Amino acid sequence: MSTTSRPSSFLIRPDKDTFLNEENPFEAMMSRFDYAAQRLNLDPGLYKVLRTPEKQIIVAVPFLRDNGEVDVLTGYRVLYNTSRGPAKGGIRFDMNVTLDEVKALAAWMTWKCAVVNIPFGGSKGGVVCDPSLLSNAELERITRRYTSAIIETLGPDSDVPAPDVNTNERMMAWIMDTYSMHKRHTVTAVVTGKPVEMGGSLGRREATGRGCMIVTREALRKLRMPIAGTRVAVQGFGNVGSIAAQLMEELGLTVVAVSDKSGGVYNPKGLRIKHLQEFVKPHRFLNEYKEAEQLTNDQLLTVECEVLVPAALENVITSQNARDIKARIICEGANGPTTANADKILEEGGVFVIPDILANAGGVTVSYFEWVQDRGGYFWDEETVNQRLERIMVRSFDEVAGMAGRHGVNMRIGAYMLAIERVAAVHRLRGLYA
Ligand code: NAD
Repeated sequence: MSTTSRPSSFLIRPDKDTFLNEENPFEAMMSRFDYAAQRLNLDPGLYKVLRTPEKQIIVAVPFLRDNGEVDVLTGYRVLYNTSRGPAKGGIRFDMNVTLDEVKALAAWMTWKCAVVNIPFGGSKGGVVCDPSLLSNAELERITRRYTSAIIETLGPDSDVPAPDVNTNERMMAWIMDTYSMHKRHTVTAVVTGKPVEMGGSLGRREATGRGCMIVTREALRKLRMPIAGTRVAVQGFGNVGSIAAQLMEELGLTVVAVSDKSGGVYNPKGLRIKHLQEFVKPHRFLNEYKEAEQLTNDQLLTVECEVLVPAALENVITSQNARDIKARIICEGANGPTTANADKILEEGGVFVIPDILANAGGVTVSYFEWVQDRGGYFWDEETVNQRLERIMVRSFDEVAGMAGRHGVNMRIGAYMLAIERVAAVHRLRGLYA
């Protein structure tokens, strides 16, 4: 991180007015929610309740720059629904953070936790900033000030953050420390994705990629496709993409293409994923790798393969490229990689999509294990974590496939229906507090 002082103009997002377009994440999420709710014949009152975030918090985050100036950032925390348990959701530091995006991500978390049937609601938070222009000391001051600004909603029983875009386990340690200093005692379970030394869980780092591998294996089984000879392309070579690629290779699949933001590499006979992971440690980017053909991110999405894993960004599979996709299975490692318009085209083309709220739920599942271990003060070995994750992912895949089959809908709508049904059931049992 740079320690030099910068002009405060970096705080203003350049594209603020153009962001709300047809790919607005909240609307994209809601279009699927509406359809699933309609298929469930959800009663109109509950529909209104589930369509509305419970709490939306906007805070000012004043902080001291390294050069002695004071700057003020904007922070958000949205608790979408807490009927099933404490809210759970990451915090991102990014210039593109908007209230609409945070609302959509908080809703996604609600449905994701319900799909894997863990006792959490959904939330999300963010601070509008560009972390690449901030020093470590500045990031620490921002993290601590943001934490204290939202401290009334935080807590192991109310709202439990985790890392997301541009936040990491170091920042989770600062959140845990700030919260604990206010409470006057150590509270590890207030946040997940912490370093293992201070209450983090073994297996958390690999959990999202491992979940992607498990549901892909289940999809191949369901579609009666073999493991041997099945080709995979993975977009994104970060936490989710690189681990998913590694575990899929270990399973016996042939990973023919991977990419990061610099571009991608391709070998029709199969890449060596461990070798690529070692390569990016010193070189950072894949476009410098010379032992395979280069390809662009657009080419990666339409490469010849049976399984495509978008594990980088939102809105990469659109009505513009969906017809050109060759894969028979898409495993959504990223949140929201497919637009609602692309969904229709993929369905017509017979592509089996494992939706994000199922495919990447391995991460929040092991975050749940971390919270359980912190509260119990008893820590599990990695094998136990992985076995329990495996059981939850396989069960959830079967439950989503069962719902989709019974209602004649695709896996995404099946997952939304399962989630909405579970959240709605709790609302009915609890009743409406007057
Ligand atoms: P990461 O920062 O570790 O990796 C992101 C990867 O995407 C990097 O390789 C980066 O180079 C690449 N990338 C960035 N811009 C790109 C572009 N324009 N084209 C192609 N590649 C690009 O992030 P991550 O933790 O792996 O998260 C990836 C996605 O998975 C995000 O959508 C995130 O919300 C979602 N997700 C992550 C987790 C988790 O536990 N990490 C859990 C659920 C969902």
